[in-house]
Amino acid sequence: MRVVVVGAGYAGTVAANRLARKAKTAEITVINPRPDFVERVRLHEQIAGTGTAATPLTSMLRRRITTRLDTVDKIGDGEVTFGGGSRLDFDYLFLTMGSTVTPLAGTLLVGTWEGAVRARDALAELPRAGMVTVIGGGLTGIETAAEIAFGRPDLQVTLVGRTIAASLSKGAQERVHTGLYRLGVEIIEDSVVHIDGGTERGGADTVCLQSNRQIASDLTLWAVIGSVPGLAGHSGLQVDAEGRATVDEYLRSVTDPRIFVAGDCAAVRGARAACATALPQGVHAADTLAHMVEGRDPIPYSMGYAGQVLSLGRRDGLMQASRRDDTALRLFIGGRTAAVGKERVCRYAKFGARTATYAWLRAPK
Ligand SMILES: Cc1cc2nc3c(=O)[nH]c(=O)nc-3n(C[C@H](O)[C@H](O)[C@H](O)COP(=O)(O)OP(=O)(O)OC[C@H]3O[C@@H](n4cnc5c(N)ncnc54)[C@H](O)[C@@H]3O)c2cc1C
Repeated sequence: MRVVVVGAGYAGTVAANRLARKAKTAEITVINPRPDFVERVRLHEQIAGTGTAATPLTSMLRRRITTRLDTVDKIGDGEVTFGGGSRLDFDYLFLTMGSTVTPLAGTLLVGTWEGAVRARDALAELPRAGMVTVIGGGLTGIETAAEIAFGRPDLQVTLVGRTIAASLSKGAQERVHTGLYRLGVEIIEDSVVHIDGGTERGGADTVCLQSNRQIASDLTLWAVIGSVPGLAGHSGLQVDAEGRATVDEYLRSVTDPRIFVAGDCAAVRGARAACATALPQGVHAADTLAHMVEGRDPIPYSMGYAGQVLSLGRRDGLMQASRRDDTALRLFIGGRTAAVGKERVCRYAKFGARTATYAWLRAPK
Protein backbone atom coordinates (compact mmCIF):
# COMPACT_ATOMS: atom_id res chain seq x y z
CA MET A 1 0.00 0.00 0.00
CA ARG A 2 1.56 3.28 -1.14
CA VAL A 3 0.63 6.26 0.99
CA VAL A 4 1.60 9.83 0.13
CA VAL A 5 1.37 12.60 2.75
CA VAL A 6 1.30 16.15 1.34
CA GLY A 7 2.72 18.55 3.93
CA ALA A 8 4.73 17.83 7.09
CA GLY A 9 3.08 20.16 9.58
CA TYR A 10 1.23 18.97 12.68
CA ALA A 11 -1.44 16.99 10.80
CA GLY A 12 0.90 15.42 8.22
CA THR A 13 3.68 14.50 10.67
CA VAL A 14 1.36 12.90 13.20
CA ALA A 15 -0.58 11.05 10.47
CA ALA A 16 2.60 9.65 8.86
CA ASN A 17 4.05 8.54 12.21
CA ARG A 18 0.76 7.02 13.37
CA LEU A 19 0.35 5.10 10.14
CA ALA A 20 3.95 3.88 10.27
CA ARG A 21 3.13 2.51 13.72
CA LYS A 22 -0.25 0.97 12.89
CA ALA A 23 0.01 -0.18 9.25
CA LYS A 24 3.33 -2.01 9.11
CA THR A 25 3.12 -2.76 5.37
CA ALA A 26 2.41 0.81 4.27
CA GLU A 27 5.11 2.50 2.16
CA ILE A 28 4.83 6.08 3.35
CA THR A 29 6.26 9.09 1.52
CA VAL A 30 6.00 12.52 3.13
CA ILE A 31 6.32 15.49 0.79
CA ASN A 32 7.30 18.85 2.21
CA PRO A 33 8.97 21.90 0.63
CA ARG A 34 11.67 22.14 3.31
CA PRO A 35 13.73 19.68 5.41
CA ASP A 36 12.33 20.99 8.68
CA PHE A 37 9.20 20.53 10.72
CA VAL A 38 8.02 24.06 11.44
CA GLU A 39 6.20 24.67 14.70
CA ARG A 40 3.95 27.40 13.38
CA VAL A 41 2.84 28.10 16.93
CA ARG A 42 6.37 29.41 17.56
CA LEU A 43 6.75 31.63 14.50
CA HIS A 44 6.31 34.77 16.61
CA GLU A 45 9.23 33.57 18.76
CA GLN A 46 11.25 32.97 15.60
CA ILE A 47 10.57 36.57 14.52
CA ALA A 48 11.33 38.15 17.89
CA GLY A 49 14.52 36.10 18.30
CA THR A 50 13.24 34.57 21.55
CA GLY A 51 12.92 31.03 20.19
CA THR A 52 13.27 28.84 17.16
CA ALA A 53 10.48 27.14 15.25
CA ALA A 54 12.34 24.66 13.01
CA THR A 55 13.36 21.07 13.85
CA PRO A 56 14.85 18.70 11.24
CA LEU A 57 12.20 16.36 9.86
CA THR A 58 14.68 13.50 10.27
CA SER A 59 14.21 13.78 14.02
CA MET A 60 10.40 14.05 13.74
CA LEU A 61 9.52 11.23 11.34
CA ARG A 62 9.92 7.49 11.94
CA ARG A 63 12.87 5.94 10.17
CA ARG A 64 10.90 3.88 7.70
CA ILE A 65 9.11 6.95 6.31
CA THR A 66 10.56 8.38 3.08
CA THR A 67 10.82 12.15 2.85
CA ARG A 68 10.75 13.99 -0.46
CA LEU A 69 11.59 17.69 -0.47
CA ASP A 70 9.22 19.02 -3.08
CA THR A 71 5.92 20.79 -3.63
CA VAL A 72 2.85 19.03 -4.98
CA ASP A 73 1.34 20.93 -7.87
CA LYS A 74 -1.68 18.76 -8.56
CA ILE A 75 -3.46 15.69 -7.22
CA GLY A 76 -4.79 13.45 -9.96
CA ASP A 77 -6.37 10.01 -10.21
CA GLY A 78 -4.06 8.00 -7.91
CA GLU A 79 -1.02 10.17 -8.61
CA VAL A 80 0.47 13.50 -7.59
CA THR A 81 2.35 15.83 -9.93
CA PHE A 82 5.25 17.96 -8.71
CA GLY A 83 6.28 21.45 -9.80
CA GLY A 84 9.00 20.03 -12.10
CA GLY A 85 6.49 17.73 -13.85
CA SER A 86 7.49 14.40 -12.23
CA ARG A 87 4.79 12.16 -10.76
CA LEU A 88 4.29 9.78 -7.84
CA ASP A 89 1.57 7.11 -7.60
CA PHE A 90 -0.47 6.52 -4.48
CA ASP A 91 -3.12 4.14 -3.19
CA TYR A 92 -4.04 6.56 -0.41
CA LEU A 93 -3.15 10.20 0.12
CA PHE A 94 -3.23 12.47 3.15
CA LEU A 95 -3.77 16.09 2.23
CA THR A 96 -2.29 18.07 5.13
CA MET A 97 -0.98 21.22 3.46
CA GLY A 98 -2.19 23.62 6.18
CA SER A 99 -3.19 27.22 5.57
CA THR A 100 -1.45 30.19 4.08
CA VAL A 101 -1.51 33.94 4.21
CA THR A 102 -2.68 36.55 1.73
CA PRO A 103 -0.89 39.69 2.85
CA LEU A 104 -1.44 43.36 2.21
CA ALA A 105 1.29 44.83 -0.02
CA GLY A 106 4.10 46.34 2.02
CA THR A 107 3.94 43.84 4.88
CA LEU A 108 6.01 40.83 5.91
CA LEU A 109 4.22 37.63 6.85
CA VAL A 110 4.05 36.18 10.32
CA GLY A 111 2.27 32.94 9.43
CA THR A 112 4.76 31.31 7.06
CA TRP A 113 8.30 30.08 7.69
CA GLU A 114 9.76 32.14 4.83
CA GLY A 115 7.93 35.27 6.04
CA ALA A 116 9.07 34.74 9.62
CA VAL A 117 12.72 34.37 8.56
CA ARG A 118 12.55 37.63 6.59
CA ALA A 119 10.75 39.37 9.44
CA ARG A 120 13.38 38.21 11.96
CA ASP A 121 16.17 39.63 9.75
CA ALA A 122 14.30 42.91 9.24
CA LEU A 123 13.60 43.23 12.94
CA ALA A 124 17.23 42.58 13.85
CA GLU A 125 18.25 45.51 11.62
CA LEU A 126 15.87 48.00 13.24
CA PRO A 127 17.64 50.63 15.34
CA ARG A 128 16.57 51.67 18.83
CA ALA A 129 13.10 53.34 18.86
CA GLY A 130 12.26 51.74 15.50
CA MET A 131 8.51 51.52 14.84
CA VAL A 132 6.93 48.09 14.36
CA THR A 133 3.29 47.66 13.40
CA VAL A 134 1.59 44.28 13.75
CA ILE A 135 -1.67 43.94 11.82
CA GLY A 136 -4.20 41.42 13.14
CA GLY A 137 -6.21 41.48 16.36
CA GLY A 138 -6.50 37.69 16.64
CA LEU A 139 -4.29 35.54 18.83
CA THR A 140 -1.45 35.41 16.25
CA GLY A 141 -1.26 39.22 16.11
CA ILE A 142 -1.43 39.57 19.89
CA GLU A 143 1.29 36.96 20.46
CA THR A 144 3.51 38.54 17.82
CA ALA A 145 3.19 42.11 19.15
CA ALA A 146 3.78 40.90 22.73
CA GLU A 147 6.77 38.74 21.79
CA ILE A 148 8.48 41.55 19.90
CA ALA A 149 7.84 44.03 22.72
CA PHE A 150 9.27 41.48 25.17
CA GLY A 151 12.31 40.58 23.05
CA ARG A 152 13.06 44.13 21.88
CA PRO A 153 11.84 46.54 24.57
CA ASP A 154 13.75 49.34 22.79
CA LEU A 155 11.25 49.32 19.90
CA GLN A 156 7.85 51.01 19.64
CA VAL A 157 5.30 48.28 18.93
CA THR A 158 1.75 48.97 17.77
CA LEU A 159 -0.96 46.33 17.34
CA VAL A 160 -3.77 47.17 14.90
CA GLY A 161 -6.94 45.11 14.64
CA ARG A 162 -10.64 45.77 14.08
CA THR A 163 -11.25 43.87 17.31
CA ILE A 164 -8.67 42.52 19.74
CA ALA A 165 -8.96 38.95 21.05
CA ALA A 166 -12.60 38.64 19.97
CA SER A 167 -12.61 34.88 20.56
CA LEU A 168 -11.94 35.32 24.30
CA SER A 169 -14.34 36.19 27.15
CA LYS A 170 -14.73 39.85 28.15
CA GLY A 171 -12.55 39.41 31.26
CA ALA A 172 -9.83 37.65 29.27
CA GLN A 173 -9.91 40.40 26.63
CA GLU A 174 -9.31 42.99 29.36
CA ARG A 175 -6.44 40.87 30.71
CA VAL A 176 -4.90 40.76 27.22
CA HIS A 177 -5.10 44.56 27.02
CA THR A 178 -3.41 44.81 30.43
CA GLY A 179 -0.65 42.38 29.40
CA LEU A 180 0.04 44.29 26.20
CA TYR A 181 -0.03 47.61 28.03
CA ARG A 182 2.55 46.32 30.54
CA LEU A 183 4.82 45.41 27.65
CA GLY A 184 4.41 48.88 26.16
CA VAL A 185 2.37 47.80 23.12
CA GLU A 186 0.03 50.48 21.78
CA ILE A 187 -3.33 49.04 20.71
CA ILE A 188 -5.36 50.61 17.90
CA GLU A 189 -8.80 49.12 17.23
CA ASP A 190 -9.21 49.94 13.57
CA SER A 191 -8.83 48.37 10.12
CA VAL A 192 -5.87 48.91 7.83
CA VAL A 193 -6.86 50.15 4.38
CA HIS A 194 -3.48 50.29 2.66
CA ILE A 195 0.19 50.95 3.24
CA ASP A 196 1.99 53.80 1.59
CA GLY A 197 5.52 52.49 1.09
CA GLY A 198 8.13 54.92 2.29
CA THR A 199 10.87 52.47 3.32
CA GLU A 200 12.01 52.12 -0.34
CA ARG A 201 12.53 55.91 -0.31
CA GLY A 202 14.61 55.68 2.83
CA GLY A 203 11.83 56.78 5.20
CA ALA A 204 9.10 55.01 7.16
CA ASP A 205 5.97 53.45 5.65
CA THR A 206 2.61 55.03 6.37
CA VAL A 207 -0.09 52.63 7.56
CA CYS A 208 -3.45 54.16 6.54
CA LEU A 209 -6.43 53.21 8.71
CA GLN A 210 -10.17 53.23 8.01
CA SER A 211 -10.69 56.10 10.47
CA ASN A 212 -8.31 58.15 8.26
CA ARG A 213 -5.67 57.97 10.97
CA GLN A 214 -2.15 57.34 9.67
CA ILE A 215 0.73 55.74 11.56
CA ALA A 216 4.40 55.66 10.66
CA SER A 217 6.00 52.22 10.56
CA ASP A 218 9.53 50.99 9.85
CA LEU A 219 8.42 47.36 9.75
CA THR A 220 4.86 46.18 9.21
CA LEU A 221 3.91 42.58 9.92
CA TRP A 222 0.82 40.83 8.61
CA ALA A 223 -0.48 38.50 11.31
CA VAL A 224 -3.77 37.44 9.78
CA ILE A 225 -3.96 33.77 8.82
CA GLY A 226 -6.88 33.28 6.56
CA SER A 227 -6.52 31.35 3.36
CA VAL A 228 -5.85 27.82 2.20
CA PRO A 229 -3.53 26.93 -0.71
CA GLY A 230 -5.49 26.33 -3.94
CA LEU A 231 -4.22 22.75 -4.43
CA ALA A 232 -7.45 20.96 -3.45
CA GLY A 233 -9.67 23.16 -5.62
CA HIS A 234 -7.52 23.10 -8.73
CA SER A 235 -7.10 19.34 -8.39
CA GLY A 236 -10.87 18.99 -8.79
CA LEU A 237 -11.68 18.11 -5.16
CA GLN A 238 -14.85 19.62 -3.76
CA VAL A 239 -13.98 22.62 -1.58
CA ASP A 240 -15.91 25.08 0.58
CA ALA A 241 -16.00 28.88 0.12
CA GLU A 242 -12.55 29.19 1.80
CA GLY A 243 -10.97 26.54 -0.46
CA ARG A 244 -10.83 23.85 2.24
CA ALA A 245 -11.50 20.32 1.01
CA THR A 246 -14.94 19.02 1.94
CA VAL A 247 -14.77 15.74 3.86
CA ASP A 248 -17.11 12.99 5.04
CA GLU A 249 -17.46 11.93 8.69
CA TYR A 250 -14.24 9.88 8.41
CA LEU A 251 -12.18 12.86 7.10
CA ARG A 252 -12.10 11.52 3.52
CA SER A 253 -12.57 13.86 0.58
CA VAL A 254 -16.18 13.66 -0.62
CA THR A 255 -14.80 13.63 -4.18
CA ASP A 256 -12.22 10.85 -3.80
CA PRO A 257 -12.40 8.49 -0.78
CA ARG A 258 -8.73 7.53 -1.26
CA ILE A 259 -7.83 11.03 -0.07
CA PHE A 260 -7.89 11.87 3.65
CA VAL A 261 -7.80 15.54 4.58
CA ALA A 262 -6.67 16.87 7.98
CA GLY A 263 -5.63 20.14 9.59
CA ASP A 264 -6.23 23.72 8.45
CA CYS A 265 -7.05 22.63 4.87
CA ALA A 266 -9.96 20.34 5.91
CA ALA A 267 -13.53 21.67 6.02
CA VAL A 268 -14.77 20.09 9.24
CA ARG A 269 -17.88 21.58 10.86
CA GLY A 270 -17.10 23.43 14.09
CA ALA A 271 -13.31 23.11 13.64
CA ARG A 272 -10.98 26.04 14.22
CA ALA A 273 -7.60 26.33 12.48
CA ALA A 274 -5.25 25.22 15.25
CA CYS A 275 -2.61 22.63 16.00
CA ALA A 276 -5.10 21.48 18.64
CA THR A 277 -7.35 20.56 15.69
CA ALA A 278 -4.72 19.34 13.22
CA LEU A 279 -3.27 16.73 15.61
CA PRO A 280 -6.48 14.83 16.44
CA GLN A 281 -7.55 14.97 12.80
CA GLY A 282 -4.20 13.56 11.65
CA VAL A 283 -4.36 10.77 14.24
CA HIS A 284 -7.96 9.94 13.40
CA ALA A 285 -7.39 9.88 9.63
CA ALA A 286 -4.40 7.53 10.05
CA ASP A 287 -6.36 5.25 12.40
CA THR A 288 -9.25 5.15 9.94
CA LEU A 289 -6.99 3.96 7.13
CA ALA A 290 -5.35 1.39 9.44
CA HIS A 291 -8.84 0.11 10.40
CA MET A 292 -9.91 -0.11 6.77
CA VAL A 293 -6.78 -2.10 5.86
CA GLU A 294 -7.59 -4.56 8.65
CA GLY A 295 -11.14 -4.86 7.31
CA ARG A 296 -12.66 -3.08 10.31
CA ASP A 297 -15.39 -0.44 10.08
CA PRO A 298 -14.14 3.15 10.28
CA ILE A 299 -15.27 5.30 13.22
CA PRO A 300 -16.65 8.83 12.62
CA TYR A 301 -14.38 11.70 13.68
CA SER A 302 -15.37 13.54 16.86
CA MET A 303 -13.50 16.32 18.67
CA GLY A 304 -14.31 18.93 21.31
CA TYR A 305 -12.22 21.86 22.57
CA ALA A 306 -11.08 22.69 26.12
CA GLY A 307 -9.84 26.25 25.64
CA GLN A 308 -7.25 28.52 24.07
CA VAL A 309 -3.82 29.49 25.33
CA LEU A 310 -1.65 32.38 24.30
CA SER A 311 1.68 33.83 25.30
CA LEU A 312 2.21 37.50 26.13
CA GLY A 313 5.97 37.50 25.92
CA ARG A 314 7.91 34.82 27.82
CA ARG A 315 6.72 35.67 31.34
CA ASP A 316 3.02 36.33 30.86
CA GLY A 317 0.21 34.53 29.11
CA LEU A 318 -3.44 33.64 29.20
CA MET A 319 -5.39 30.39 29.38
CA GLN A 320 -9.03 30.72 28.38
CA ALA A 321 -11.36 27.86 29.32
CA SER A 322 -14.07 27.01 26.81
CA ARG A 323 -17.05 24.74 26.32
CA ARG A 324 -16.39 21.79 24.07
CA ASP A 325 -18.11 23.64 21.21
CA ASP A 326 -15.23 26.18 21.51
CA THR A 327 -17.31 29.04 22.95
CA ALA A 328 -15.45 30.87 25.70
CA LEU A 329 -16.40 30.46 29.37
CA ARG A 330 -15.83 33.27 31.90
CA LEU A 331 -12.99 31.27 33.47
CA PHE A 332 -9.43 32.21 32.50
CA ILE A 333 -5.97 32.31 34.08
CA GLY A 334 -3.42 35.03 33.37
CA GLY A 335 0.20 35.53 34.36
CA ARG A 336 3.27 33.34 34.66
CA THR A 337 1.27 30.14 35.26
CA ALA A 338 -0.45 30.67 31.93
CA ALA A 339 2.91 31.39 30.24
CA VAL A 340 4.21 28.05 31.55
CA GLY A 341 0.96 26.40 30.44
CA LYS A 342 1.33 27.77 26.93
CA GLU A 343 4.92 26.54 26.71
CA ARG A 344 3.77 23.06 27.81
CA VAL A 345 1.01 23.05 25.21
CA CYS A 346 3.55 23.87 22.46
CA ARG A 347 5.88 21.11 23.68
CA TYR A 348 3.05 18.61 23.92
CA ALA A 349 1.94 19.43 20.36
CA LYS A 350 5.43 18.74 19.01
CA PHE A 351 5.78 15.63 21.17
CA GLY A 352 2.39 14.44 19.90
CA ALA A 353 3.40 14.92 16.26
CA ARG A 354 6.69 13.07 16.76
CA THR A 355 5.39 10.16 18.84
CA ALA A 356 1.94 9.95 17.22
CA THR A 357 0.43 9.93 20.71
CA TYR A 358 -2.27 12.48 21.32
CA ALA A 359 -5.42 12.50 23.46
CA TRP A 360 -8.44 14.75 22.96
CA LEU A 361 -12.01 15.34 24.07
CA ARG A 362 -15.02 14.08 22.12
CA ALA A 363 -17.44 16.56 20.54
CA PRO A 364 -20.38 17.72 22.66
CA LYS A 365 -23.63 15.77 22.15
C1 LIG B 1 2.26 32.71 15.11
C2 LIG B 1 1.24 31.61 15.19
C3 LIG B 1 0.81 31.18 16.44
C4 LIG B 1 -0.11 30.13 16.54
N1 LIG B 1 -0.48 29.74 17.79
C5 LIG B 1 -1.31 28.68 17.91
C6 LIG B 1 -1.63 28.17 19.21
O1 LIG B 1 -1.19 28.68 20.22
N2 LIG B 1 -2.43 27.08 19.29
C7 LIG B 1 -2.93 26.46 18.18
O2 LIG B 1 -3.65 25.45 18.33
N3 LIG B 1 -2.68 26.93 16.94
C8 LIG B 1 -1.87 28.01 16.77
N4 LIG B 1 -1.58 28.49 15.52
C9 LIG B 1 -2.20 27.84 14.36
C10 LIG B 1 -1.48 26.54 14.01
O3 LIG B 1 -0.11 26.75 13.90
C11 LIG B 1 -2.02 25.94 12.71
O4 LIG B 1 -3.42 25.83 12.80
C12 LIG B 1 -1.39 24.57 12.50
O5 LIG B 1 -0.01 24.72 12.20
C13 LIG B 1 -2.08 23.80 11.38
O6 LIG B 1 -1.43 22.57 11.20
P1 LIG B 1 -1.43 21.87 9.79
O7 LIG B 1 -0.70 20.58 9.95
O8 LIG B 1 -2.81 21.83 9.23
O9 LIG B 1 -0.62 22.84 8.82
P2 LIG B 1 0.87 23.42 8.91
O10 LIG B 1 1.41 23.31 10.27
O11 LIG B 1 0.78 24.77 8.29
O12 LIG B 1 1.71 22.46 7.95
C14 LIG B 1 1.44 22.35 6.57
C15 LIG B 1 2.70 21.88 5.85
O13 LIG B 1 2.37 21.58 4.48
C16 LIG B 1 3.36 22.15 3.62
N5 LIG B 1 2.76 22.34 2.29
C17 LIG B 1 1.87 23.31 1.89
N6 LIG B 1 1.56 23.15 0.59
C18 LIG B 1 2.26 22.07 0.14
C19 LIG B 1 2.37 21.42 -1.12
N7 LIG B 1 1.68 21.85 -2.18
N8 LIG B 1 3.20 20.36 -1.25
C20 LIG B 1 3.91 19.90 -0.15
N9 LIG B 1 3.83 20.49 1.07
C21 LIG B 1 3.03 21.56 1.22
C22 LIG B 1 3.70 23.45 4.33
O14 LIG B 1 4.90 24.00 3.85
C23 LIG B 1 3.78 22.95 5.79
O15 LIG B 1 5.04 22.39 6.06
C24 LIG B 1 -0.66 29.53 15.37
C25 LIG B 1 -0.23 29.96 14.11
C26 LIG B 1 0.70 30.99 14.00
C27 LIG B 1 1.14 31.43 12.64
